[in-house]
Amino acid sequence: METIADCRYNCYPKKPACPDCRGRKKLKKIKVTGDNRFIRIQGSPEMMPEDLMGDLDPVLAMRMGIQDPRAFTPGKIQKAHRKILFVDELNRVPQRTQNTLVQVLEEGITTIAGFDFSSEVDTLVVATENPEEYAGAERVSETLSDRFEQVRIGYPGFEDEVRILQQYGKKIEGVRESDNLVRQSVAISNSARSMPDELERLPSVRASLSIYEQAQSLARLRDANQVKKSDVENAARRVLEGRLAVSTESRYYEKQGILIEKIIDQAKK
Ligand SMILES: [Zn+2]
Repeated sequence: METIADCRYNCYPKKPACPDCRGRKKLKKIKVTGDNRFIRIQGSPEMMPEDLMGDLDPVLAMRMGIQDPRAFTPGKIQKAHRKILFVDELNRVPQRTQNTLVQVLEEGITTIAGFDFSSEVDTLVVATENPEEYAGAERVSETLSDRFEQVRIGYPGFEDEVRILQQYGKKIEGVRESDNLVRQSVAISNSARSMPDELERLPSVRASLSIYEQAQSLARLRDANQVKKSDVENAARRVLEGRLAVSTESRYYEKQGILIEKIIDQAKK
């Protein structure tokens, strides 16, 4: 896209209207491409409406005067004008901030209190949401969900997860990389996922990554350069311990250790 250099609101070159562009005599056109058209927000319970909508910068306000709109620091939403706004974990964002987002998406403009200026916001929002049963998850309000198309994403297939580990797993120096190690790590997570009746919370891809990485560390601690099957199993015992939640109806309730052994055993088959 084309915009103006040093404009924080991504004005259209044909109608520069923001406080950054307004007072300036010379406006230089620039091109914004690829990754730079992507604005990312990490959803968290601490996320306030000001993070989206911007706020007055006290230092600039002192210098330029409190009424000067140039003293206003735009938030992520203004910066996302003509871009893609990615909100990770939308359902960790407090309701109040969610409502602000609804308002902006609805009206397509942000009006900044105290200034007689509003900025246009034309953006595409892509967001992720944890499953509702996930601890710490808030609800995404109906008014907000109504503005999204939803796609449910499950666990990756076996071969896809193998590729994720190969690409993103940390390799520990001095330990030989092996296909078996990757496949065993994924097999253990998959084994647990095949027991949804026993488990309320199943291991994520991050659990597989941890098994993979910790197995290498265990080999390293033995001063070995090759990971043994027992390293993977010991890593899995540790990793699964804190990541599973045994269902209250399961006969393994309060016997998680036994269930973990069963999971590891089943992964060998
Ligand atoms: Zn501008």
